[in-house]
Order: sequence, then C-alpha cells, then structure tokens
Amino acid sequence: MESALTARDRVGVQDFVLLDAYTSESAFLDNLRKRFSENLIYTYIGTLLVSVNPYQELGIYTVSQMELYQGVNFFELPPHVYAIADNAYRMMCSELNNHFILISGESGAGKTEASKKILQYFAVTCPMTESLQIARDRLLLSNPVLEAFGNAKTLRNDNSSRFGKYMDIQFDYKGIPVGGHIISYLIEKSRVVYQNQGERNFHIFYQLLEGGEEELLAYLGLERDPQLYKYLSQGHCAKESSINDKNDWKTVSSAFSVIDFTEGDLENLFGIIASVLHLGNICFEENDQGCATIPDIHEIKWIAKLLGVQPSILLEALTHRKIEAKTEEVICPLTLELSVYARDAMAKAVYGRTFTWLVNKINSSLVNKDFTGKTVIGLLDIYGFEVFDKNGFEQFCINYCNEKLQQLLIERTLKAEQAEYEMEGIEWEPIQYFNNKIICDLVEERHKGIISILDEECIRPGPATDLSFLEKLEEKVGKHAHFQTRKLAGPKGRKRIGWMEFRLFHYAGEVTYCTKGFLEKNNDLLYRHLKEVLCRSKNRILKECFLVAELENRRRPPTVGTQFKNSLSSLLEILISKEPSYIRCIKPNERKEPNKFDDLLVRHQIKYLGLMEHLRVRRAGFAYRRKYEHFLQRTKIFIRFPRTLFATEDAFEFSKHQLVARIQATYKACLERRVYVKKRQAAIRLEAHWRGALARKVAKRRKWAVRTVRKFIKGFINRNKPLCPDNEEFIVFVRKNYILNLRYHVPKNVLDKSWLRPPGILENASDLLRKMCIRNLVRKYCRGITAERKALMQQKVVTSELFRGKKEGYAEVLNQPFANSRIDEGDINPKVLQLISNEKIQYGIPVIKYDRKGFKARQRQLLLTQNAAYVVELAKIKQKMEYSTLKGVSTSSLSDGILVIHVSPEDHKQKGDAILQCQHIFEAVTKLVMLVKRGNIVDVVQGSLQFYIGPGKEGTIVFDTGPEEQIYKNKNGQLTVVSVGMKSS
Ligand code: ADP
Repeated sequence: MESALTARDRVGVQDFVLLDAYTSESAFLDNLRKRFSENLIYTYIGTLLVSVNPYQELGIYTVSQMELYQGVNFFELPPHVYAIADNAYRMMCSELNNHFILISGESGAGKTEASKKILQYFAVTCPMTESLQIARDRLLLSNPVLEAFGNAKTLRNDNSSRFGKYMDIQFDYKGIPVGGHIISYLIEKSRVVYQNQGERNFHIFYQLLEGGEEELLAYLGLERDPQLYKYLSQGHCAKESSINDKNDWKTVSSAFSVIDFTEGDLENLFGIIASVLHLGNICFEENDQGCATIPDIHEIKWIAKLLGVQPSILLEALTHRKIEAKTEEVICPLTLELSVYARDAMAKAVYGRTFTWLVNKINSSLVNKDFTGKTVIGLLDIYGFEVFDKNGFEQFCINYCNEKLQQLLIERTLKAEQAEYEMEGIEWEPIQYFNNKIICDLVEERHKGIISILDEECIRPGPATDLSFLEKLEEKVGKHAHFQTRKLAGPKGRKRIGWMEFRLFHYAGEVTYCTKGFLEKNNDLLYRHLKEVLCRSKNRILKECFLVAELENRRRPPTVGTQFKNSLSSLLEILISKEPSYIRCIKPNERKEPNKFDDLLVRHQIKYLGLMEHLRVRRAGFAYRRKYEHFLQRTKIFIRFPRTLFATEDAFEFSKHQLVARIQATYKACLERRVYVKKRQAAIRLEAHWRGALARKVAKRRKWAVRTVRKFIKGFINRNKPLCPDNEEFIVFVRKNYILNLRYHVPKNVLDKSWLRPPGILENASDLLRKMCIRNLVRKYCRGITAERKALMQQKVVTSELFRGKKEGYAEVLNQPFANSRIDEGDINPKVLQLISNEKIQYGIPVIKYDRKGFKARQRQLLLTQNAAYVVELAKIKQKMEYSTLKGVSTSSLSDGILVIHVSPEDHKQKGDAILQCQHIFEAVTKLVMLVKRGNIVDVVQGSLQFYIGPGKEGTIVFDTGPEEQIYKNKNGQLTVVSVGMKSS
C-alpha cells in the first residue's frame, strides 16, 4: 500500500485489480494518469507490472531503494521493477526453479532500461564472492557493447534496441550470479544501409568516428566526420545532442577488455565496421552496355585491405554475378541497380553475421564452466507490437513474435489462475478470456501460414513478385477470419486497404501490412560471388562467420521468415519451462518529454499490450488475494469488492501501532528467552563440570583409600615376617602410629603405671621407652621435691620399712603428713626445758603411760631429743632413756597405739620398759627410730609381748581385737589391749 491510505484518491490504486470499474478503459487510463502525475510510474495488475516511461530521473533506483525491496513480501511495498526482480529471485532460491521476466512494450517505452535496472539489482543485492565478481562485471558490461552494435537512435527512442534479446542470468545454489547466456533475435540489418529521416545507423559507427584514436582511424582509412559516409548521413542527424558518442566509445572500449576481447579481435572487428562504411561510399556508374562499373577503387582498396581479400576479386564480385549452368559457371555483369543491391546486401550480411559473432563471443566470456546445478532468471527484452502508417516485413515478424508471446501469457495466466482456483476450491469461468485466447491462436496460425506461403513464393521457379505473393495469400488464407485484402474486403473496407496490402486482426487491433519488399527481405539474398569473396577473407571474424562449407552446401539457406519462426519456437520452448513474470512498458508521449501524458497514445498501448484483458482475468474471480500469513496465517483471502479491502486496510492502519508493540514485545521476549536459555544451559554445564570434577576427586580418593586399605591389610597379614616390601609400609605406619599415639598415653606421674600396649614388633622398643619414661618421671619428680618434703618422705620411707604389711592402720596414715612435733614448746614445762636445755627437743607428743605393775594410766609427755627419749610429767622428768642404751621398741600388729620402749636391764639407771600409748603411733615410732639411727630396733609383735618390769621380772601385754577399744588388766595380771579390727592394713 502507498504510505498513507488517505492518499489513495490522489495517487490512485497501486494495483489495478482494486479498481471498482475494472472493465472501463477510461478508469484504467485515469488511474495510470493520476499516478504518473505523482511520479508513480509503476502499477500492478496482480503480479504483472505496468511501467510508464517517466523520461526523467526519479531517484528511485538508488542502492537504498534496492535494499528496501530486498527480501520483502511482494505486496508490502509500492510497485517497483525491483519487487518483480526480487520476487523472481526469492522464488528461484526457495523453489530452485527457473524464471523469466518478460519485458515488452513499444520502442522507447523503457524495456531496455527496465532490464538494465533488473541486472543492476541482481548485481548489487545478490550475495557475491570475490572470485565471482568478474562474472558479474561481465554480465553488466556486455550490455554497453551489445547496445553499441545493436541499438540506434530512432524517431521514437534515442537508444532503441534494434534486436530482440533474451539473456539468462545463471545463479549457483547459493544465489550468486555465476554466468550468463544471451540469445539475439532478428537484428534490423536494413538500418546498416538505410535510415529514415531523423534516425541513425547503429551507435558503434558514430562512436568509432567520434572517439577512436587518430592512429586507429588512420589504420582503418576513416575520417572523423560521419557526414562523409553515405551509410551514416541519410537520416540527417549524425550528431544528436542527447547522445555522447565520445563518452560511450570510452565505456565500450573499457568493456571490451573485461569481456575478453583481444587486440586482434578488436582490429578485425573494427576492420569490418570500417569496411561497411567504405562499402557505403562505393559509387557505381553505368557503362554503355548498361552494366555497372566502379570508377574510383579507393574504397575497394581499403575494404580489400581491412577484410583481407583481393581488390580485383572484390571489385568483380560487386559488379558481376556468377550464374551456374549445368556444368559451367558463367559470369554476368550486373546492372547498376543490382550492383547497389549486391553492395548493400554485402554490408548487411557482414554486419548481421558480425553481430551474431559478437553475441557468441560475449557468451563465451559469460559461460560458467562449472556444471553443477544452476538456476536461471531469463530477461526477455523484446520489441513490442508495432503499428506504423506503413508496416513492412519487419513489423510482420515483430507482431508475429508479440502475438506468440501474448498467446503464451494468456495460456500461462489462464493455467495459473485455474490451478489456483482449483486449489482453493473456488468455481471460476474465464469464458471471456478464452475468447481472447482463441483470437490469438487463430492469428498466430495465420502468421505461420503466411510465412509458409511467402517461403513457397521465394523458392518457386518462375517469376515471383510481392504481388504474386499477395495473390497466393488471397487464394490460400483468404477465407479465414482475421485476414483481409482489398479484394476480399467489402465495399466499406476497401478504401482503407491498398492494392499491395493485406490486413491482420491481431488481438491488439488490426494492422495493415504492405507486401512491398516481402520477398526480397525474406530471401535476404547475398550473391554467391560475394559470399565466395567473404569466405576467403583473411579477417578472422569473417572467417568464422562465412564458412567455406556454406558454399559447398547447395541447399538453399532457410529464409529470414523461417529462421525467425524457428528461433521463436525455440524461445517459446525456453520460456515454457520457466516461471514467468511480466513487465509491460508504456510510452507516455511521442516526444520523449517528462510529465506529458498523451491519453490517446497510452490508450492505444493499453489496448495492444492486452492490459484490459489481463485485468479482466484477474477480476473475473476475486480481485484481491493475499496470503493469510499476513492476515491469519492460513489459506488465501479472496475479496471481491475493493472497498472491503480499503476498510480492512484502514482498520489495519489504525491498529498497526498496537500490533507493532505486540510484535516488538514478543520479539524482545524471544530474544531474552534465548539469552536466558543460553545462560541456563551454561550454568547447567558449569554445574555438571563442577560435579564431575568433585566426583572424580572423590573417586580418586576412594581408589587411593582402597589401595591403601589393601596395602594395610596385606601389611597386617605379613606383619610378623621380616621387613619386606609387603609389610614395610605397614610396619612403618604401625611404628609411627604407635609412637604418635604413645604421646597421648605416657604416664603423667610416677605413680601412674599405665602404658600403651605395643604391637608385637614394638615390644622391645616399648619396654625401653617405658623405662626411659619412668626414669624421666622419677628424675623430674625427684627434682621437684623440697628439702622439707624430702625429709618427710624419708620419714615415710622409714615408716614403710618399719610397718608396711606388719601393722594395721599403716595404709590409713600413709597419706597423712607427719608433724614436726605434737607438742608446742610453750606446752612443755620450763623446768623440763631447762633440765634438758643442752639438748634440742626434736619431737614431742602427749602419751599415756601405763604402770609396769598395776597398769595404771597416766598422762605424760614423750619428748625426743637428739640423744634420748624423755617421759615427762609436768616439771619432772620421769624417765630418761638414752638411745645408745635402748634395747628396742615394740608395737602390736593391731591398730592400737601401744608403744613399748625396751630399756637395757644392764642399765641401772632405768627402772624398766616404758609402756606408752599415743595417738600418732607410726609418727612417734618413726621419729624415735630415726633419732636412734638404728633400723632394726622396732619389733611389731602379734598376739602379745613381754616387757621388762625390773630385774628378773617381766610382764605381758596381750593384744586382741574387739568391738570397741579397751585397755585393762586381765585376771592373769596381764595388760589386755583391745582394738577395733580394720578391714585392710
Ligand atoms: P525501449 O528499450 O523500450 O525502446 P528504452 O528502455 O531504451 O526503451 O528507454 C528509452 C529512454 O527512455 C531511455 O533512454 C531513457 O532516457 C528513458 N527511460 C526509460 N525508462 C526510464 C526510467 N525508468 N526512468 C527514467 N528514464 C527512463
């Protein structure tokens, strides 16, 4: 749709199928005019493009425009030749099939420009590789060369193609243009020798004269002035302001080098072009016998030099004719008229065949030698239907061609339409269109018939003339509709047809052809004599164009009409196998002026381009079809009334912004999601790798552990063997482990007897260690003991020696520290102190003293000095026992506190043994023994003891256990000491 739908009224509809009055030619014309006045030169009829020549640059062929149309849906953008090109290209790429674009229209309507635009579009937009750039450049540059040799200025077009051209552009599977092939049709050879007023010969002649270097012109024997050449000056417009021959020469020269033309090729080629100009300047005179002569052979010499032929033979061939009798050849002179004919025939033949050579040469440079599958897009830029005031053999051929192509268009469109309706399940009756097809078929049939009759006339023996040909036509096809002659027309039509004319009713309208020149042009005769000269030419190009084999072939070469008919058939074959696109070009005015729209002229073209018929077919069913993809992603939508479409489009316009926002949102979401999915995948991957790494680490550890455990077990099994590899590690481990463990289990003090059990192999070591450890502990312990404590300990040692295992209560006192003394000095009577002042009291303890006889108990103090033990009662020393004379000390094995100090009976100072009882029996005895300094003086008795009472008298003390402590004199007069028995000692 055009950018704003509101502009619809101003600029018309961009697709004619949207016209309400689709049957009205005026409505059609109005729409075209409206658009043309807004510089909208393109309009569709469905997929067919109608193009009106603007005759001005509109700025619509820029690279950005090309990019705009690239890959865009056909109906998305305003109509354009790029849309047609892009559509064909996309379809070719996606469906891998071949296409052609048929560009038709009358001369000057813009066909050549359209095909150039398409070529440029492919050159710019198709993918390209560096190596294939050369193929692209050749495709592009073949155009100026072909135009130089095949185009000319005519009254209608300053750059009119005077030949039909079909060009295949080959693409590889990636859509890269890789090569091409050109087929040319019916070059207008007559232009070489004659041009109408205001027209020119082919551009190349003028370009050579204008642009050719001095040396080149000198080599070719040419002057720079085209007026000097008859073949260039007849139209009286050799110089034309719109054409820059000098510049064009430069373009063509540089193009030659790209398309593989060698120096030699160019020398030969321009030798031929110059010879044609020299031929045109040959002047004939009539001699007395009425035969033609050439008085000035200046031109002959140049031609002979340039074509590499003998001048005399050329001269003869231009003025004589060889007639072959049964066995011999007779040379007959030609009349002046026939010589001129022979000369022009030679010029035409040489130029025509050179043009064919040129096309072949270009083809060999465009050929792609890679035979892998390629697809093609063909461009057919062919002359449109021509109706002039006087229509000759050329128009007859051209219109035949158009008739045939129109037939193809109808057939293909009908088929395509029918297939589409069938596919969509819609009923459709294209009756009217069938009628047109029938006309086409008939006229095409007529053309073929006429060419056959013409051929018959050309070859039949006896005098045949254009008139006799017309009579034959009347005789053979006269009865057919769509054909008329003056004779066959009724009284009304008679006036409009001349005596030499016939009329055909083409699909595009009636055309009257004048038969004058039909036979000659169809024959296109080149005298054998001249052909021989050309076959022997040393010019390389001519050698290829005129083969000697041609001379030997006695069969008549096919006539121009037959050649044209045949090449048309092969063209049709080429086209039938491809998918078509159509461009119809229209010329808006005859004066090549911008902004001029000649209604009559355009209406005429609308008619003969068959545009109304085409529109009718498209509208016979449903005017507007668009894929649901753009609507609802389904099958196609069919809309009968354009206003329905407009309403839909307006609604679309209204909601476009919402749609855009939604599309954007969806698209953004899609992008985000893609990013998210990518990130998630990456995270999962990382995780997997990380987990893998961890698992591998664990597995490695386990493996190691298994190995270690195994080794350990093996070591364990072999632990008792001598050191070997099997147990070495285990033993080291066990050692190490034991030693390390031992750290935590070494005894903490000397009394701690615990020791970590060693494994078998370490028993010795363990013993040594243990000893060392104990020794160490002991040493430590000893070092830590104070002098005071040492003394205490020594006392305990003595106690132990005296009582351990001997007297009950030992264990209980073991942990009780001994006191230095149990009596303070203050508690000792000063008198006593005084009495023993020369001796230091080492120990004192309160005691109970029992009389030796009556066992009476009395409170006393036992004081121990360095030398003696004193039993003291207040201020009196009751008994002094010197250590030196002591006999011994006795205690019981029970828990009583009885202590008997035995004195010696020899000591007269003593009355008897002292029987004492004290609380700290162990302490007191130990102190005493240590002061006495004799270990063996203590006797621990069991049951009873004897004590000394006086000379010759002994008493007994009986020790017993009982429920309570008691000391009493038993009936035997013995002292009985009962103590409470203890569980342990
Ligand atoms: P044809 O090949 O149909 O005889 P051309 O393509 O040679 O016609 O066009 C004739 C002239 O019209 C061109 O030389 C050019 O000046 C003009 N012309 C044709 N098409 C366009 C166009 N699309 N834009 C501008 N000028 C054009």
